[in-house]
Amino acid sequence: MKEHLKDPIFSIVSEEADQLQQACFVIGGFVRDLILHRNSKDIDIVTLGSGIELAKRVAKRLGPKTPVSVFKNFGTAMIKKGDLELEFVGARKESYTHDSRKPVVEDGSLEDDQKRRDFTINALAIGLNKANFGELVDPFGGIADLENKIIRTPLEPGITFSDDPLRMMRAIRFATQLNFRIEDKTLQAISDYAHRIEIISKERIIEELNKIILSDKPSIGFKLLDKTGLLPLIFPELANMKGIDEKSGVAHKDNFYHTLEVLDRIVPNTNNLWLRWSALLHDIGKPRTKRFVPGTGWTFHGHNYVGEKMLPKLFRRMKLPMNEKMKYIQKMVSLHMRPIVLSEEEVTDSAVRRLLFEAGDDIDDLMTLCEADITSKNAEKVKRYLKNFQLVREKLKDLEERDHIRNFQPPVSGEEIMETFGLPPCREVGEIKNAIKEAILEGEIRNNHDDAYQYMLNKASEMGLSPNQG
Ligand code: ATP
Repeated sequence: MKEHLKDPIFSIVSEEADQLQQACFVIGGFVRDLILHRNSKDIDIVTLGSGIELAKRVAKRLGPKTPVSVFKNFGTAMIKKGDLELEFVGARKESYTHDSRKPVVEDGSLEDDQKRRDFTINALAIGLNKANFGELVDPFGGIADLENKIIRTPLEPGITFSDDPLRMMRAIRFATQLNFRIEDKTLQAISDYAHRIEIISKERIIEELNKIILSDKPSIGFKLLDKTGLLPLIFPELANMKGIDEKSGVAHKDNFYHTLEVLDRIVPNTNNLWLRWSALLHDIGKPRTKRFVPGTGWTFHGHNYVGEKMLPKLFRRMKLPMNEKMKYIQKMVSLHMRPIVLSEEEVTDSAVRRLLFEAGDDIDDLMTLCEADITSKNAEKVKRYLKNFQLVREKLKDLEERDHIRNFQPPVSGEEIMETFGLPPCREVGEIKNAIKEAILEGEIRNNHDDAYQYMLNKASEMGLSPNQG
């Protein structure tokens, strides 16, 4: 392991720990990622003694201006050096009570410290003192699990998960990020203890869900959440999408698996967490709008609007951001049918203009979502849709260049209308303004002041208004 600890920071920590005569190790995620050749900037150092004292000495060696953040209550200290973040802590032993994630903590040995870790692959340590520099300490077979791609708890899994139920989410998150398998007993224990997720804060759950969503194949995580029974507890609206109904020999597709396919399909095209959330939520209104219409089959009329309306309550409960991020996802959910409807019919300029007007700057994201939404197994159908989408994209580009609808501002303002006709604020002003907007979207006039002004004069005269002479 020595060759991996070439950064000078490790020899400084080593020398200072020897000076203090404290055993000292680098431990946890950093070691795991080192072996997996993943980049990791968070370095956790554990020492048998005071982590704060060690951190202060290391900081001094790094230069007089190196700040140390000390968290006395936790007995930890942090140093930032360039883009590295070093955290120092004394080795500890933890014991838990039933109703809290907060353990009783006391000083412990290295092995005590490794035992309290969540998974064998996260419990690896490497010696940093001169006598054992670079030596791996692996009491639970973490290296073998890394090689075999297995997530397993160091202790009896039931104990690990009931001590801290967040670890169930972490197991599934690591399985997804690393494409590892959760060992059978560990997986069974997650199912057994799923109900204990209730003591975990919504924020921590979302943090893990976001990491799942940002991984290369998020469906792995959601299928595991479903399989273990966590999904209905943390995200019932998504769990409700599962299942297929059949009537008169007509079945609909399983909207849960369809959604996961859309989410996986959008991954290569965006790193935007909120666009990925939009993929996860685009059909969330389907269970509530599902109807069987004899002769037609299953319908989900208005599921995009129902989905849009469901989001505020869902976001509030799950502690997702209730700000412009939610508005963006609402827009995606509500508009996600439009490009496909548009491409099924003749792609008219006015329909494209209206779409551009409503989607604004988010139009490209919307098209990305809609392309991911085409999951049909019928290759001919897929080809036709994608071709039509290409046409829609070209039209969007043409019209945008010509008409600048994307960030539409009325070319004639309400004020100008009032001034021209000597009107107070009134219904007629709104009517004229709206007529101008409609004329632009319909392509009757161009989106510029002269055309709009002329149109206003004609429209007003139809309404019996004449310009103010004075
Ligand atoms: P990432 O940085 O991707 O979140 P990580 O493993 O580095 O992964 P951290 O949350 O930074 O995650 O945790 C650092 C280490 O602390 C882990 O590798 C693990 O050893 C330990 N750890 C973190 N959370 C828990 C927990 N809930 N229970 C037990 N050990 C934990």
